[in-house]
Amino acid sequence: MTNGSGDDLDRFFSADHDDIYKGRTTDVYFQRTESILKAKGLLDTYTRSEFTVGGLPNDWPWAVLCGTEEVVRILEGRNVDLYCLPEGSIFTPRTKKGVKLPVASIDGPYGQYCSLETPALGFMCYASGVATMSARCKKAAGGLPVISFGVRRMHPAMAPVIDRSSYIGGCDGVSSLKGAELVGKPASGTMPHSLVIMMGDQREAFRAYGEIIDPTVPRVALTDTFYDEKAEALMAAEEMPGLRSVRLDTPSSRRGNMADIVREVRWELDLHGHVDVGIFVSGGLDESKVKELAAVGASGFGVGTSISNAPTVDFAMDIVEKAGRPIAKRGKFAGRKYVFRCPNCLEYEVSLDREYPPRCSCGKEMRWAEVKVIEKGKRLVPEEPAEEIRRRVLRQLEGIDH
Ligand SMILES: [Zn+2]
Repeated sequence: MTNGSGDDLDRFFSADHDDIYKGRTTDVYFQRTESILKAKGLLDTYTRSEFTVGGLPNDWPWAVLCGTEEVVRILEGRNVDLYCLPEGSIFTPRTKKGVKLPVASIDGPYGQYCSLETPALGFMCYASGVATMSARCKKAAGGLPVISFGVRRMHPAMAPVIDRSSYIGGCDGVSSLKGAELVGKPASGTMPHSLVIMMGDQREAFRAYGEIIDPTVPRVALTDTFYDEKAEALMAAEEMPGLRSVRLDTPSSRRGNMADIVREVRWELDLHGHVDVGIFVSGGLDESKVKELAAVGASGFGVGTSISNAPTVDFAMDIVEKAGRPIAKRGKFAGRKYVFRCPNCLEYEVSLDREYPPRCSCGKEMRWAEVKVIEKGKRLVPEEPAEEIRRRVLRQLEGIDH
């Protein structure tokens, strides 16, 4: 980016992709470690490091693995091998026997990836938190659509990763232009209160939307700007041909009982013959509110802050082998482990031998679950489209109760 005089500008407070790839966002202690190891001739010692998590936030029993695609990208071109569970794997922090589950592992000279620990963790911790919260909201919605509306709560540099992670986690659509481009879907959105205010009255706004916006865009009218939701919902039904839904974004000062507002609007729409018009709710929703409102007649949800500000999944990266020998710090399990998963009940177990798959408690023989994604810096498997990863998440979610 230039300022017209030809000078480069760091216009916004975010790292550019070159900064990230070259490790300039890393914690300084890795840089110091590199200088010491280099001086002592140890930088090229062969190591294996694993990514594991001790426990999950909010007592979540499982999480959605997300962000490994960016780990692949930062390791490409370096002399390492990378093994990963597939992006979108639902995993538990530990195996049935209590061993910390390695979701990814790197083999190679330590100096090749020492300073990438910080960005690699950042990719996975944030994206997995967002994907997991999205999956939980999608589950709470019981099949109804959930749209990710959270980009405005985070730094704009993160909009694409927020939207990709929430889409992979199960959201049906994403609101930012750049995020939608990344997941390969048209962006989803309705209308803001500012449109109604600028048009001067809600009927004008509803009419103008129908007139100007491409007919392929679903008609969803925001019906809480000036009057009661019931009154504005009927206005929208009268003024917007092909009205798909009304959106209730009721301010918190007026909420009282949102479930009752949804019930009343549903009643009013039905009473006037608009049985096909849905009720899309947004504003301060989280998984428990989604569940509550899905049960009383809401037909779709826009979830913002609780998704984009989801707690991170606190992965750690630890050395588990050095120069071919098992070694680990206290609290970690040393040695190369092969991760297996039951094709039936999706449970995990590790084995010290790739040739001896563990047997699941259900009786089935488990299958090796890791994918070798990088060999000596070369990518072996192509990137999967977000839609395919999302489908995998939804399939796994079907087998989960909560
Ligand atoms: Zn099983």
